[in-house]
Amino acid sequence: MKPPAIAIDGPAASGKSTVAKLVAQELGYTFINTGAMYRAIAWYLAQQGVSPAQREEITEMLPNMPLDFGKDGASSAVLCDGKRLRSELTEPVVNDSVSLIAAIPEVRAFLLHKQREYNESEAVVMEGRDIGTVVFPDTPFKYFVTASEEVRAARRAAQGLTDSISERDKNDRERACAPLARATDARVIDTSDMTIEQVVAEIVDDIKDKTQVQV
Ligand code: C5P
Repeated sequence: MKPPAIAIDGPAASGKSTVAKLVAQELGYTFINTGAMYRAIAWYLAQQGVSPAQREEITEMLPNMPLDFGKDGASSAVLCDGKRLRSELTEPVVNDSVSLIAAIPEVRAFLLHKQREYNESEAVVMEGRDIGTVVFPDTPFKYFVTASEEVRAARRAAQGLTDSISERDKNDRERACAPLARATDARVIDTSDMTIEQVVAEIVDDIKDKTQVQV
């Protein structure tokens, strides 16, 4: 039987990364941050001076990029030429280009395969924009985590990051291929007035209810 996949989607700065990481810890599953995968490609292309408009060049480059989508302990990790990418992934050039890169269907197809691969041998908590709709449409564990725009902007500012989240959200919602959308069978959690612990508990309790076993 395929190991379980927990899908956590939502707009930028909704708190889904923090929540997904804690849910994964609590269940003993692997945490997969798919935003980091798109960010790594955006960062690499910026290094090479390739603009998001150069779709053909990007498509040709995809299989030969020196990026490795692996793991570090119980979390996903992205390496470039063997070096783990960290602060590179939140550079302003990445924040500005990532949603344009993520709108390219060939980029999405390339990463979709790698994202599903993570779940072949192990249980995962995967967060992103299209996990419940496209990556794991059959999983019974889907959560759409949101927060008001003011709360999300304040959370980003508190992280010391400059990031035009409303523009990214607009690009992510309006793209033709795998847009940011709530799966019709996803449980919606508005975290604006909730603590992280409350959100994590709501998700873990729901998973336990659905599996009817102590996970
Ligand atoms: O989650 P994070 O904000 O780091 O994601 C960065 C960008 O990557 C998003 O704005 C979106 O354009 C893209 N993304 C996506 N699909 C995912 C995860 C991220 O299109 N599953």
